[in-house]
Amino acid sequence: MIRKLHIAGPVLDGILNAARLQYPREFFCLLGGERRGDAVFVDEIVYIPFKNSERSASFNILDVPNTDPRIVGSAHSHPTPSGPSPADLRTFPYVGWVHLIVYPPFDRSSASAYDAKGRSIPLFIED
Ligand SMILES: [Zn+2]
Repeated sequence: MIRKLHIAGPVLDGILNAARLQYPREFFCLLGGERRGDAVFVDEIVYIPFKNSERSASFNILDVPNTDPRIVGSAHSHPTPSGPSPADLRTFPYVGWVHLIVYPPFDRSSASAYDAKGRSIPLFIED
């Protein structure tokens, strides 16, 4: 069971910036890194094609490099602060252990981490 998500500060800043640029449409990307015990360490943004609107961001599951062991999760934005949607909960298990949701004002406090079942887990930012 995953209990915490550690993310490199510049990686989180990159996600927040990309999400800010897409706003009010949603942003989506994958997270690269590694799992160590009950923690996942993210040090890379992995971009894949996605379609977005003001209500959703969708991607083709075939674009997820699921044989790549460095893919540990996903990140996407919501137009307002909110937890995982029913669609998010269906998607999370297919794209790794940890999932970030970011939202306005897109600063470092505007990010929440979840495990693949959508349970909130603590987020540690490492610079
Ligand atoms: Zn969502």
